[in-house]
Amino acid sequence: MIAATEKATREQSKRHNNRLVLKTVYDRGMSSRAELARITNLTATTVSATIAELITDGLVEEVGSVSTERGKPPTLIRLAKDARHLIALDLSRSVFRGAILNLRGEVIQQKDIVVDGQTGEVALAAVYQLIDALLPAVKRPLLGIGIGAPGIIDYNSGIIRQAANLDWYNLPLSEQLAKHYDLAVHIVNDNQAVLLAEFIFGQYKNSSELVVIRVGHGIGAGIMVNGQLLHGYATGEIGHVVVVDNGERCSCGNYGCLETVASNRAIVKRARTMAELHPESSLNQLTAMPEEITIDTVMQAFKQGDPLLTELMADVGHYLGVVIAHLVGVLGTPPILLCGRVARFGKPLLDVIEYEVCTRSLTGRLNRPKIDIVSLKAEISDIVILGAAASLLTNELGLF
Ligand SMILES: [Zn+2]
Repeated sequence: MIAATEKATREQSKRHNNRLVLKTVYDRGMSSRAELARITNLTATTVSATIAELITDGLVEEVGSVSTERGKPPTLIRLAKDARHLIALDLSRSVFRGAILNLRGEVIQQKDIVVDGQTGEVALAAVYQLIDALLPAVKRPLLGIGIGAPGIIDYNSGIIRQAANLDWYNLPLSEQLAKHYDLAVHIVNDNQAVLLAEFIFGQYKNSSELVVIRVGHGIGAGIMVNGQLLHGYATGEIGHVVVVDNGERCSCGNYGCLETVASNRAIVKRARTMAELHPESSLNQLTAMPEEITIDTVMQAFKQGDPLLTELMADVGHYLGVVIAHLVGVLGTPPILLCGRVARFGKPLLDVIEYEVCTRSLTGRLNRPKIDIVSLKAEISDIVILGAAASLLTNELGLF
């Protein structure tokens, strides 16, 4: 019994050392064994044994050496970035996107499947279709599948509790895919995926406090506190906080939620009404009929300086600011990053939000919050894919 416990402890510390050394190699790019021992506080013998194991697994490789003044130059170790491939999916938009990536998050192959309006079993079949279409292009051992999905997700079990647009309720997606493909599967909410991507691959690398607010069809937040992503049930569902008493009916059944006044859908709806009431609006020069107005038309008219759109932008900023002021009151002032097409309103929108946050919260007044736009310039789907890949790398290899 004692021997079994000792063996388990040894296995555990070996796994810990393995992850620590691999993470250090990953973060530093290239290191000698001596440097790794110094940084990790492990003995030279343990580092050498761990590296030998990682080389056998193919995860790291030896590369050349740097010349030093004295003695034999040390051999350098680096990540073998193509040692494993991983599949990552973004299921949060009307086009499902999937990609094969390497361990550095570089995309090797990408596929899209249009699911616009399809729900339930049909949408689920599209997930399998997407993975099946990618698999033939996988040329390395697969680490697993990472997924960024919309809605309320039980992070530990990988069950999608509620994704209303896809009509998925209590769908054990992680378990189903893991069984079907015999692979590790990790699912995160799409907003959390954006935050992870920014945390690992973006300008806010390793910032231990961070909030990402994604405004699209819906509005949600990914929140990181003390370097930990908040995974609680329905965390970050800021889109369904009521900001207008007796306001419009929301998709959630309540009235006057933030989504009814600041989501893309709400913005487009209001712009169409504006176009009808104001024939002189540039919205009418950009489209033949108000029904043709999209979020892109709105952004274009705003850039042209249409005062109606300035008013609309100010209202969107006001309502976002009201909710963000509450977030700041609870969390302090982590960097807050906006993501989605509304970010194209640019600095004027950020200024309105900042004004509201500072006016409405003591925390905001005491410590001016940094409100910005996500730094990753990729398309939103590609950012979600990066985040989903990061979640897999964290869970399977302990890289972040
Ligand atoms: Zn709602």
